Amino acid sequence: MTRGIFPRRKAPDNLPRAAHWAATAVCRSSDADPDVWFPDPTDAVGIGEAKRHCRLCPVLIQCRTDALNRPERFGVWGGLDEAERAAVLKRRRADARAEAARQQTAEVTAGELAPAS
Ligand code: SF4
Repeated sequence: MTRGIFPRRKAPDNLPRAAHWAATAVCRSSDADPDVWFPDPTDAVGIGEAKRHCRLCPVLIQCRTDALNRPERFGVWGGLDEAERAAVLKRRRADARAEAARQQTAEVTAGELAPAS
């Protein structure tokens, strides 16, 4: 029986890990009330308060990107409320469709212009 080329034992995995970006989030601080970031979607004052906190947050961009990628449906994330995130995602889908159509048109055009073999 061969033992292969890999060592039988692995080195201990005790390397330091970089802290997750959310570790410095304003909404994770000990004195933050989590309910602030989940106002009623019709509560403009509550939404504004959550956005004010987000504007001071050092990880706003990471949070916004993460919330859009999940996508997060409820609450204020990365300074965007539910309607704003929905609008961004709708625009992204429209852009993706337009890009797919543009590529399809380019492929058809290239095929028409290719010399007959
Ligand atoms: S930007 Fe994101 S991580 Fe920062 S306070 Fe707002 S919801 Fe929390």
